[in-house]
Amino acid sequence: MGSKKYIEKLKQLPTPFYFYDMELLKETLQTVTSEAGKYGFDVHYAVKANYSDRIMEEINKFGLGTDCVSGGEVRRSVECGIPASKIVFAGVAKSDEEIKYALKNDIFSFNCESREELEIINKIAGEMGKTATVALRINPDVDPKTHKNISTGKAENKFGISYSEIEEVIGEISALRNINIIGIHFHIGSQIRDLSVFKKLCDRVNTLQEWFIDQGFNLKHINVGGGLGINYDEPDAEPIPDFKTYFKIFSDNLKLAEGQTLHFELGRSIVGQCGELITKVLYTKVNGEGTEIALVDAGMTDLIRPAMYQAKHKTVNLTSDSGKCKNYMVAGPICESTDVFGKSIELPETKRGDLLTMKSAGAYGRCMSFGYNLRELPKEYFSDEL
Ligand SMILES: *Cc1c(COP(=O)(O)O)cnc(C)c1O
Repeated sequence: MGSKKYIEKLKQLPTPFYFYDMELLKETLQTVTSEAGKYGFDVHYAVKANYSDRIMEEINKFGLGTDCVSGGEVRRSVECGIPASKIVFAGVAKSDEEIKYALKNDIFSFNCESREELEIINKIAGEMGKTATVALRINPDVDPKTHKNISTGKAENKFGISYSEIEEVIGEISALRNINIIGIHFHIGSQIRDLSVFKKLCDRVNTLQEWFIDQGFNLKHINVGGGLGINYDEPDAEPIPDFKTYFKIFSDNLKLAEGQTLHFELGRSIVGQCGELITKVLYTKVNGEGTEIALVDAGMTDLIRPAMYQAKHKTVNLTSDSGKCKNYMVAGPICESTDVFGKSIELPETKRGDLLTMKSAGAYGRCMSFGYNLRELPKEYFSDEL
């Protein structure tokens, strides 16, 4: 599984680069579509996790829709052939231009995050002679029990319409003539490994559903967002996340009304495990505290998750397996002290020229790379093109 199988070819390529195991991606997509299909659930792929053309192409082949958080992502989806009827557009602060572009393309749904945004979409839709289909993104105040920087559905977060405002929003909605409310939307966070969190979300959604029905609203769609986590510690033990249990939780706990469809927006769980960042060791040295350091040619500019979320990616030496293992600080070339992938990573004796791989980098990896220190963005290679 993964890069090891392709090592002779990978050795020829200039580092650092992303490598994708396309077979694993396909198997993952097969699992997602068959598990969701059991219940007739609709899955929208969260484009921000990885918007590479090759990845988008596979997503489209398996018939998934997309979840976008910018006009650029809506455009990428349209250009990749995703039918507009399967595109949803969330985003806490959509610009007028982005709203116009999405309206022009008649996307399935705007996930609206505030009263003012509803008014603006209504106004722009009116000017364009369109009716916007909208789901209200509600902040359900559920703690996703994940890193604080990737929690989005707690009352303190900037996302969604708060409980305290829903009643007022509902009161005003009938006056917004160019908006058609088709559903409600939630997204509480990312890298959620404690699945009981999703059961809690179901309970909140059930309560809200009843309230909406009491107010005379007929919601056609419920969208529960994404957030299913992956196993970063032991990716080989769990290359495909447990979609079976995940979808079953919603089937067992969420009370759908007659004719209602349930939508999901999965990003990380679909593409996370199929990608790796491959990097070369440039130097080794020992710091003043006696810590061995392996300095590699990939930096936080190529993979920012460790610096931004204290994330850990399982790191493996692909070219050396000398029996003796040691702990290394693995760090990049960027002029920032946060440019460290791990302070104590166990590796076999590692030297200049060795290739290391950082696993589980398919989601929020390449798409978050940036050009600080005037660095080039890392290239991407796909197993079926090597
Ligand atoms: C990021 C995001 C997702 C996807 O989250 P994952 O943890 O990658 O599954 C889904 N919905 C919205 C609104 C998002 O912002």
